[in-house]
Amino acid sequence: ATPMALMVGTGRGAQLGILIKGPEVLESTRAVDTIVLDKTGTVTTGRHALVTTTVARGEDRAEVLRRAGAVEDASEHPIARAIAAGAREEVGALPAVEGFRNHEGLGVSGRVGGGAGVRRAVGADAVEGVDDDEVVVVGRPALLAERGMPLPQELEAAFTEAAQAGRTAVAAGWGGKARGVLVVADQIKDTSAEAIGRFREFGLTPVLLTGDNAAVAASVAAEVGIDPGPETVIAEVMPADKVEVVRRLQSEGRVVAMVGDGVNDAAALATADLGLAIGTGTDAAIEASDLTLVRGDLRSAADAIRLSRRTLGTIR
Ligand code: ADP
Ligand code: MG
Repeated sequence: ATPMALMVGTGRGAQLGILIKGPEVLESTRAVDTIVLDKTGTVTTGRHALVTTTVARGEDRAEVLRRAGAVEDASEHPIARAIAAGAREEVGALPAVEGFRNHEGLGVSGRVGGGAGVRRAVGADAVEGVDDDEVVVVGRPALLAERGMPLPQELEAAFTEAAQAGRTAVAAGWGGKARGVLVVADQIKDTSAEAIGRFREFGLTPVLLTGDNAAVAASVAAEVGIDPGPETVIAEVMPADKVEVVRRLQSEGRVVAMVGDGVNDAAALATADLGLAIGTGTDAAIEASDLTLVRGDLRSAADAIRLSRRTLGTIR
């Protein structure tokens, strides 16, 4: 395409809510044959809600919610926001947290309590016999297992059931025991299936990429029309490994577009042949990308591909 055509295409993109970093970006869409989609916040809204809480035998539900909610209140993750909000709704004010840690792609931990102040805050509901200073861990079962807190059978069952329903479950534990499973539900954006259908019309193979578990990923993939199987649904990928997935696809000869919203997608977006950031996502994702989709709607990604193909004269 002529420089003039590329300029016009870039201007047309802005009208469509597609911010293009430079005219040369349109050229790089030419050979794209694979489109990798982050799940949370890209295919789904990322606005989760806490839907069920299951506690292990003999555990106090309110205490599980209070402690898990308190630690999650220090995190910006969509799962964390849902748990903190849901816990607050059920048990009221959440205690303070010390030594908060974010275990990227795995969960969070922190000490809930710290004595009299918190005892006062939780008042008469304070549970006797538990050490307020114990580290509370919330996240993937692997994170708890690593700390000597495997899931008891009844929690394992709650976890599996949630995953089969396409929901994300996280475990909460402290003091050497997993105490509860908290289930959050995300919503698939109602525009995602249509967008994925359009990617296929352009001859692109859609691939779902997520840190979430395989059952949730499979359920979301089925709902939006992504083929099942290990080539197209890639789950339980640690944030740092998303970029490795992109590199592997490239090494297989694929030309890869990637759409993502999170800090954890930034390296993959930068490595992809074409990086598309969801405009409602994080600055890190936007900075790493060639294109920003202002509306946060996956159909804009299809518009972007069509625009560039038109601009390059490969379609009308
Ligand atoms: P995605 O790739 O879908 O955007 P992440 O990489 O952010 O997801 O997280 C992967 C998994 O790690 C989540 O599905 C969840 O099980 C766990 N996790 C991450 N952050 C948290 C948190 N703050 N609280 C609980 N679990 C978390
Ligand atoms: Mg995400």
